[in-house]
Amino acid sequence: MGIDYITGNENTLRLGFFFGTLAIMALWEIVAPRRALTVSKLMRWSNNLGLVFFNSFILRLLFPAAAVGVAVFAAEQGWGLLNYYSLPLAITIILSIIAMDFIIYLQHVLVHAVPALWRLHRVHHADLDYDVTTGARFHTIEIILSMLIKFATIVVIGAPVVAVIIFEIILNAMAMFNHGNVGLPKPLDTVLRWFIVTPDMHRVHHSIEDDETNSNFGFNLSWWDRVFGTYRDQPRKGHTGMTIGIRTFRDPKQASWITGLLAMPFIGKVSGYAINRRQWDDDNEH
Ligand SMILES: [Zn+2]
Ligand SMILES: [Zn+2]
Repeated sequence: MGIDYITGNENTLRLGFFFGTLAIMALWEIVAPRRALTVSKLMRWSNNLGLVFFNSFILRLLFPAAAVGVAVFAAEQGWGLLNYYSLPLAITIILSIIAMDFIIYLQHVLVHAVPALWRLHRVHHADLDYDVTTGARFHTIEIILSMLIKFATIVVIGAPVVAVIIFEIILNAMAMFNHGNVGLPKPLDTVLRWFIVTPDMHRVHHSIEDDETNSNFGFNLSWWDRVFGTYRDQPRKGHTGMTIGIRTFRDPKQASWITGLLAMPFIGKVSGYAINRRQWDDDNEH
């Protein structure tokens, strides 16, 4: 696949990978589900996917040129670290993708650590089940924030347009893969985990237990968690015994309906002192 083909067929490729991955994972989840679902699939899927389509509509409205437009602009201005070196294009693309993945990891740690940002990110975690649609379920404001961080990243590192397209397609497909309600054979999972995030690895991050939620922040490469000490092998209660979600929102209507999801960041008192999330949620909601 040439670079011109990728940049020329950007939208087709994005949609193709999105619906292709969704279809493969949905089938896999029906044929070999890892856990029994606790909430009606129809309700979760219609609301989770409804939020995804709402978000892409808002993003198009706010940022018509999107991240690719920023990459074009940065390249024209000669901005960004990689524009100072004349490395082979393939190397520049690979370095850009790795750098963008590292920033996404740091951003994920940040939205867990800062209480105001956790309010946005808990929309992703409040899902009472864990499946392919969880991987795309984020609050609109968190999506906008991610986009702004991505713009800044592109300007600073000077990622080429094609790298931005490839990264966004990989991130989208990988998030849907590693949120799958599926499991890989143990030996394969063990080997893959040295390089990429597998469904069993990311599922630990959706545990109701604080220490388990605050681990496995990576979305694509598993290296960041291993290097920065946030890696956790398995949930204590096992993948079928663990509870998915957060303590604050256990009512399926609140945790599944799109209106509840959009309102979720604004529910509960704001408190400035707590870093420990469980403490913070308990103080505010109970
Ligand atoms: Zn998270
Ligand atoms: Zn997740």
